[in-house]
Amino acid sequence: MLDHLAFTAPKPKTIAGAKHDWELVIGLEVHAQVASNAKLFSGASTTFGAEPNSNVAFVDAAMPGMLPVINEFCVEQAVRTGLGLKADINLTSAFDRKNYFYPDLPQGYQISQLYHPIVGEGEVIVDMEPGVARRVRIERIHLEQDAGKSIHDMDPNMSFVDLNRTGVALMEIVSRPDIRGPEEAAAYVVKLRQILRYLGTCDGNMQNGSLRADVNVSICRPGDYEKYQDTQDFSHLGTRCEIKNMNSMRFIQQAIDYEARRQIAIVEDGGSVVQETRLYDPDKGETRSMRSKEEAHDYRYFPCPDLLPLEIEQAWVDDIKASLPELPDEKMARFVRDFGLSEYDAGVLTAEAENAAYFEQVAAGNDGKLAANWVINELFGRLKKDGDKAITDSPVSPDQLGGIIALITKGDISGKIAKDLFEIVYTTGGDPAEIVETRGMKQVTDTGAIEAAVDEIIAANPAQVEKAKANPKLAGWFVGQVMKATGGKANPKAVNEIIARKLN
Ligand code: ADP
Ligand code: MG
Repeated sequence: MLDHLAFTAPKPKTIAGAKHDWELVIGLEVHAQVASNAKLFSGASTTFGAEPNSNVAFVDAAMPGMLPVINEFCVEQAVRTGLGLKADINLTSAFDRKNYFYPDLPQGYQISQLYHPIVGEGEVIVDMEPGVARRVRIERIHLEQDAGKSIHDMDPNMSFVDLNRTGVALMEIVSRPDIRGPEEAAAYVVKLRQILRYLGTCDGNMQNGSLRADVNVSICRPGDYEKYQDTQDFSHLGTRCEIKNMNSMRFIQQAIDYEARRQIAIVEDGGSVVQETRLYDPDKGETRSMRSKEEAHDYRYFPCPDLLPLEIEQAWVDDIKASLPELPDEKMARFVRDFGLSEYDAGVLTAEAENAAYFEQVAAGNDGKLAANWVINELFGRLKKDGDKAITDSPVSPDQLGGIIALITKGDISGKIAKDLFEIVYTTGGDPAEIVETRGMKQVTDTGAIEAAVDEIIAANPAQVEKAKANPKLAGWFVGQVMKATGGKANPKAVNEIIARKLN
């Protein structure tokens, strides 16, 4: 399915109010917390929301003489993520010290991978709307430690430090500046998050900070990006500003929008954009300067003497590759192909792996489109009404929903009765076929019984019969009456046929 898509940007929007046409160029550095129970270089727990400073090993607190020991599980998750993004895996990578002072960083440096990251170039295909996709190139993924948290709002005179997060493993996923607008940036994060969740390498919880993005924004004149795209020559692009630590799709879009307008105003006014790090203030809807851009040499990077270069074996990488799940793009293409679904429906069903698995169980032995309709419209709608329940907590199992759909297909119940049945199963449980039997919900297909009901209504309404004979469109009134008389259980097809015959 993806092969026939044009990997072109939706025409970049020109910015209203500007004298010239401008386009946006955006690159994201996404920090994804590795879904690991232990930290990158210590055995301390990573549980979110624990008592402050309760998940801190000596090495996390930088006690003198403590040495980091690499957590193999975290390395495996980075490799898994790289493979999921179709990236090159570097069998040799190395850790560097990025030196800076901050109270929540007791070591005085962060262990990261600047010169030799574990993952090289890959890609994310970003779905913009059905039929329109964009290829965003991934430059690298490196492993690094998270810092702790400084808490400034608990006491008027003091700040506190919580080291629980210190040393937790992060994957920094760096994109090339291939993103061309605010919606595309959000769509990129959505897609990346979806892939990480499919892989199980990051829980993607943005509220808890498991996934956060530094957003780099610059502006250029039409045509400049294309020159960069083919050559990787950054001189074709404008000076960028980096907006730090964004953890909401909405704020990412608002911040980019504001930042683009700010930069255009500066340049059209004859000034030039200063490369710097900025923060987004959601209350004011503005970005403001945080610090001037620091360069690698400001951090005095050097290879971490406590850690040997990280060597992994191709056979191990191959094993991890063999264990990858089916990823969103492939699953979506298969749903379109095998179940005859629209791309839109397939997209909804594959947004989360759990939804897709549920759907597949419902669709087993049933019509795929009908199953998709029931899962998307009835089940998702009902779960949403029920306090936004997760599909994994659905009171209706896939077997039960499949059972309801099978009864419709067999003609045992009408679509309308099926909705009543669904509600009964949802609230009280039970086997759908048994409920239909015991509650007498079965559709009346016995034409004798339907005919009797039709005769009765025709006899009681001679005036309506005359009108309907003159205008066949009025036969619908009789259908309604018969349905009412049979409690909605008469087979609609049989009712229509019998009425048409009797009125002729
Ligand atoms: P640093 O680590 O110093 O922030 P990197 O070279 O790692 O610098 O790039 C960081 C991010 O900036 C990358 O995601 C890249 O795509 C993006 N980027 C680079 N140049 C531009 C530009 N002109 N406009 C927008 N984004 C850019
Ligand atoms: Mg950066």
